[in-house]
Amino acid sequence: MSDTIFGKIANAEVEADLVYEDEAVVAFRDLHPQAPVHILVIPRKPIPTLNDAEPDDAELLGRLLLAAAKIAEQEGIAEHGYRTVINCNAGGGQTVYHLHVHLIGGRALQWPPG
Ligand code: 5GP
Repeated sequence: MSDTIFGKIANAEVEADLVYEDEAVVAFRDLHPQAPVHILVIPRKPIPTLNDAEPDDAELLGRLLLAAAKIAEQEGIAEHGYRTVINCNAGGGQTVYHLHVHLIGGRALQWPPG
């Protein structure tokens, strides 16, 4: 199943600027970056939102964060610091319904986010 643009990217049906992939996870640069480094880390499995993740997905969720940390190192932003964000549903700002972790860095980040 790959009914969203991210599912199509995971299945190599649509091009993206990939920075990392393994058997469970794909990561690529955001088309409209909000910071010098803005990467989306997604599971190959099409989980629509964080609300849809199940106990069996626990390892996969961990792999998304471990991949984000590895990519942050690769991108040279690990030591300075960065942010990971999961938007959930419309009220949380989600627009693409394939679970993804935003990895954002390379500039000063404000808190709280808007
Ligand atoms: P959300 O708002 O769902 O948390 O984040 C979706 C993100 O996906 C946005 O930052 C948006 O810029 C990015 N995006 C949407 N469509 C595409 C696409 O086709 N390719 C890439 N690389 N990023 C996309």
